[in-house]
Amino acid sequence: MKISLNPHAKDAATRDALVAEGGFGKYYTDHMVVCEWSEKEGWGEPELKPYGPISLDPATAVFHYGQEIFEGMKAYRQPDGSISLFRPEANAKRFAKSAARLALPEMPEALFLETVDALLQQDGGWVPNKVGESLYIRPFMFATEVGLGVRPSNKALYMLIATPAGAYFDPSKAVSVWISTEYVRAAQGGTGEAKCGGNYAASLVAQKAAAKEGCDQVVWIDAIERKWVEEMGGMNLYFVKGSGSSATVVTPKLTGTLLPGITRDSILSVAKDLGYKTDEVMISIDDWREGVASGEISEIFACGTAAVVSPVGQAKSVMGTWVTGDGQPGVITMQIRNALLAIQHGTVVDTHNWMSAVK
Ligand SMILES: *Cc1c(COP(=O)(O)O)cnc(C)c1O
Repeated sequence: MKISLNPHAKDAATRDALVAEGGFGKYYTDHMVVCEWSEKEGWGEPELKPYGPISLDPATAVFHYGQEIFEGMKAYRQPDGSISLFRPEANAKRFAKSAARLALPEMPEALFLETVDALLQQDGGWVPNKVGESLYIRPFMFATEVGLGVRPSNKALYMLIATPAGAYFDPSKAVSVWISTEYVRAAQGGTGEAKCGGNYAASLVAQKAAAKEGCDQVVWIDAIERKWVEEMGGMNLYFVKGSGSSATVVTPKLTGTLLPGITRDSILSVAKDLGYKTDEVMISIDDWREGVASGEISEIFACGTAAVVSPVGQAKSVMGTWVTGDGQPGVITMQIRNALLAIQHGTVVDTHNWMSAVK
């Protein structure tokens, strides 16, 4: 690792004031990591350097054909003041899979983890202290070959940046969703399983449509039968059937078009730890509407690294509008959310070995 420290790094008081502001994605830490790849030379030596703009030729491939992938992960302050990452190996593995799908080079897991560690060792002071707060880490990679020919790029740039994430969870509000029957996020054989910017670019018009309907988020259904529930925006979905200790916590099955969320995967274990049955099944819009009407579906929530767990309330679509629960976060939703946060913040025993300490 080459190291070039930032001569203008914020002093501790300035940094702490910025971190205390909360929010998300407004401020970035003093450094970033870059690592170049070329077909000829493979991966170069990563460099930790001052955070700042980069300069690229206007004919750089990524601007024209969108060959780009990213990850999102979090570092949490532990009770003893140390810093731990939540399941970083899972992000490394998914990053390599996304790379393969987008014809980008697969970054070795050890190299990926080395860059994350290096940034945290330098900028660890930016990890907030309060429960629900964290440092959000964004690794990404894009095609840097210069030229307008359509082909897999023979050069790529990996970058790593980080931003403090405040506790923006509002426990008094469940999100409303617009079930999109007009736009599709992903189809079999497409890029739905890959974490690539292009998926998001294609989703924004649907997000706009959802907002026009007065909804906070868009829910995606499958591309072929147009009835199976897949995801909500950039998060996976969970449905709670029944209540109390006999409840079953179910999530849409991974069919090849859903993004396999690490939070989704973790909740399957956490829900079992809490004594609930879990299932991965196909859930249709009709199942959703009828389940809510009969009361069988008692709670719905979305999950992902950024928000961890968000309760879902009203669902709206061309087929009508229906509401789960009373618009307040469900009991089991909050129990799962708190159990996961307790593991992440190191206040309970990490029985799954998910936490990875930063040296
Ligand atoms: C990142 C992402 C998720 C959630 O994945 P996590 O690993 O839990 O953060 C879900 N859906 C989409 C489309 C995503 O991009």
